Amino acid sequence: MSAHFDLLIRNGTCVLPWGAEQTDVGVRNGRIIALGVGPDATADETIDARHLHVLPGLIDPHVHFRDPGDASVESIPTGSKGAILGGLTTVFDMPNTEPSMVDAAGMSWKREYVERVSWCDMGIYVGGTKTNIPELGNLELTCGCCGIKIFAGSSTGNLMVEDDEHLEMVMRSGRRRIAFHSEDEYRLQARKPMYKVGDPYASHMEWRDEECAFLGTRRLMALARKTGRPAHILHVSTAQEFDYLKEFRDIATAEVLVNHLTQVAPDCYERLDGFAVMNPPIRGQKHMDAAWRALNDGLVDTIGSDHAPHAREKKMLPWPNCASGLTGVQTLVPIMLNHVNAGRLSLTRMVDLMSAGPARVYGAVAKGRLAAGYDADFTLVDMKKQRRIEESWIVCPAGWTPFAGMDITGWPVGTIVRGKAVMRDDTVIGEPSGKLVKFIG
Ligand SMILES: [Zn+2]
Repeated sequence: MSAHFDLLIRNGTCVLPWGAEQTDVGVRNGRIIALGVGPDATADETIDARHLHVLPGLIDPHVHFRDPGDASVESIPTGSKGAILGGLTTVFDMPNTEPSMVDAAGMSWKREYVERVSWCDMGIYVGGTKTNIPELGNLELTCGCCGIKIFAGSSTGNLMVEDDEHLEMVMRSGRRRIAFHSEDEYRLQARKPMYKVGDPYASHMEWRDEECAFLGTRRLMALARKTGRPAHILHVSTAQEFDYLKEFRDIATAEVLVNHLTQVAPDCYERLDGFAVMNPPIRGQKHMDAAWRALNDGLVDTIGSDHAPHAREKKMLPWPNCASGLTGVQTLVPIMLNHVNAGRLSLTRMVDLMSAGPARVYGAVAKGRLAAGYDADFTLVDMKKQRRIEESWIVCPAGWTPFAGMDITGWPVGTIVRGKAVMRDDTVIGEPSGKLVKFIG
């Protein structure tokens, strides 16, 4: 008797953990059941992926969906819709909302809410503060929690743990890998009086200079070594940190943002003014080159968008009053595919960074691999499709992208979450059915 599946993906070039192969994928009950199923297999639904690449579902481990907050800027319903339109099957959402996600009640509300309104699967961070340290060891083990996020330097919101004493207490509070925003808060504050309102937007990278980030990372690595607690350094942005982190691979993993791989100063500030301002800042060519070198050396584990929307009016305020943060969840995959087509990394390495990488770093269960028994999450991409990024395509209510006008080769044309097609050719299908990701405790 020939096999029957819920879903068959036929004729695609599948990026498997051991390399790209043209094969057919059989899905049942939301899971991958078989690769290389025979011609007589049948299915309720068959997708012909001829001329397409079938990637394991791509993950953005760094988004700020601002929910609860201001839904006219972003929310989980709209942010997760942007994710699936952009070819992502899963996102991990940051805790600096209004109010912040820092306790059991908040996390419990968010868990229930996510499974009601999200289009994609989600992991949720719990924020560390100086006052919730005793609870962090339990909070990081709650269902759907991808880990603790610590802001060691100030950014949007009021979450912050900046001093060594409290950082060490946080590191001794549990055992899972902690994600850090690494900038030295004392140096940021000490340098602030050197600048005035209305200075050029490029002052952002001078105020929050290389040493702010490098010093923050040196302090965190010293504490991680001392306590033995694994650390994930988010958005590494300086040549110095990439070099330094090679000595800490026993305790540290590293993220790079698509922004730091794609935009460069001073050009970005001249073109985009406040719409290029983010933390840590977009820097000069030397640092972009170092990020690409680190990525191709294998130092980098994950790539994120750091999707962090703000209203246009707030981005247009004079520096430094303009809000920090760029939109990006919907444009992450197209831009990375364009980098693949430009020869800057291989498609296999992109999948390692955007699917296997986040699953490994955060311990996501049954995600990150196109293999039997794993969740049937797929990103279908047309590597030859050419398209320009237009703001009219962006569903984030803030309504802007710093990548508007960029010509792209390689585009996500289908998103499948646990066996259910939720996007095909720019069309969203069905109803929100995202679930919380499970993590190894
Ligand atoms: Zn962020």
